[in-house]
Amino acid sequence: MVKLCKICGEEIVGGKFEDYETCPICGDILDDIIAKYLEMVAMKCAQQEFDGITLNMIIKYLDEVVDWVEFFEDLEEFSSDAKYYERFRMVLNKLDLDRVWFEKIIKENYKTCPACGADFTRQCLDIEKDGDWVKVYCGTCGKLISKHYAPKTEL
Ligand SMILES: [Zn+2]
Ligand SMILES: [Zn+2]
Repeated sequence: MVKLCKICGEEIVGGKFEDYETCPICGDILDDIIAKYLEMVAMKCAQQEFDGITLNMIIKYLDEVVDWVEFFEDLEEFSSDAKYYERFRMVLNKLDLDRVWFEKIIKENYKTCPACGADFTRQCLDIEKDGDWVKVYCGTCGKLISKHYAPKTEL
């Protein structure tokens, strides 16, 4: 049976988010978004009044990031990454429309530490930038939670 990507409608052949009905190309962007989300969790956690993170906060933040990027691209007359941002928008729109789906991905993969059980909406994550990789560790026990390929400087 042919499986279709729920974001772009193309056929799914493998990829990290195959189980979540997402093709590898949209999956790469989803991975970038998740990396941003985890960075945000880590950043929030460092603040004094940290009291958990909600999905609404994430989507609002990501929307602002994309608007900002497009604004600067206009200024500098860059267009090489236009396709990337076009698809980025598409993935964001999907997240906005189907939050349950995104929440499920987060809950099943990035919400609690598989080693010590820390809850990352309440307890801290540590982010480490290692060359082109962003590595995410449990702030409580130090286990590697995920790593994301991020050759771009700052989104
Ligand atoms: Zn897709
Ligand atoms: Zn842990």
